[in-house]
Amino acid sequence: MIHFSRVSKHFAGKAVVRDLDLNIAKGEFTVLIGTSGSGKSTTLKMINRLVEHDRGQITFADEPIEKFRAQDLRRRMGYAIQSIGLFPHWTVEENIATVPQLLKWPKAKIRDRVTELMELLHLDPQQFRKRYPHQLSGGQQQRVGVARALASDPEVLLMDEPFGALDPVTRATLQQEIARIHQLSGRTIVLVTHDIDEALGLADRIVLLSDGQIVQQGTPLEMLTQPATPFVRDFFGRSD
Ligand code: ADP
Ligand code: MG
Repeated sequence: MIHFSRVSKHFAGKAVVRDLDLNIAKGEFTVLIGTSGSGKSTTLKMINRLVEHDRGQITFADEPIEKFRAQDLRRRMGYAIQSIGLFPHWTVEENIATVPQLLKWPKAKIRDRVTELMELLHLDPQQFRKRYPHQLSGGQQQRVGVARALASDPEVLLMDEPFGALDPVTRATLQQEIARIHQLSGRTIVLVTHDIDEALGLADRIVLLSDGQIVQQGTPLEMLTQPATPFVRDFFGRSD
């Protein structure tokens, strides 16, 4: 569904992503992991053209991504990030409905979809629909962020450390919810994290980045039992 072929990205002359080859199959849960600054967020943002790659080719559904208007791409790919980015003067309902509103869905359909998503993410619609972001806990805000990313039923869900800065219990709950959403919908998910347990628990396939390059990719079991280099062994060894 998403294909990178020798993709690079430079900032101020410095390569932050180098010669990346990556295939993300439809329905697959891919986790990009690596230390801070390894190029995870940049890689993710190149998929929805928040960042334009400068070498190589990226395709989505067999078309070069340049063929899609950035705004169309972003409607087809939900995007949830750590800093959430909820609109402070909009209610929970209005925040979740951002993309359906842009797509001019009928009001009743939007309302039903918001209710459905709030239930999916365990946010009581009665209680929370009309609240503003500042009236929610951090975990509830993250849920709204994920619900918003899912609202138009996008083909792809991109998430950049969406559970960062949450307490371990809330984090575990949200991880379970994402796993359940993936099982229910079979949606293609690309998640960025630096949390090894999160990667091992959620991924069909883990892609380990270091210094803008893929060091190894494989199933969680492969990464643990067949590390390609001492770096990979040490990286995953930390979770023992
Ligand atoms: P990660 O998400 O793995 O922490 P990033 O993809 O955010 O890494 O960043 C990779 C490298 O690219 C870092 O060295 C970062 O400072 C640099 N970088 C990212 N975005 C920009 C930007 N807009 N301008 C300049 N440098 C950037
Ligand atoms: Mg990042």
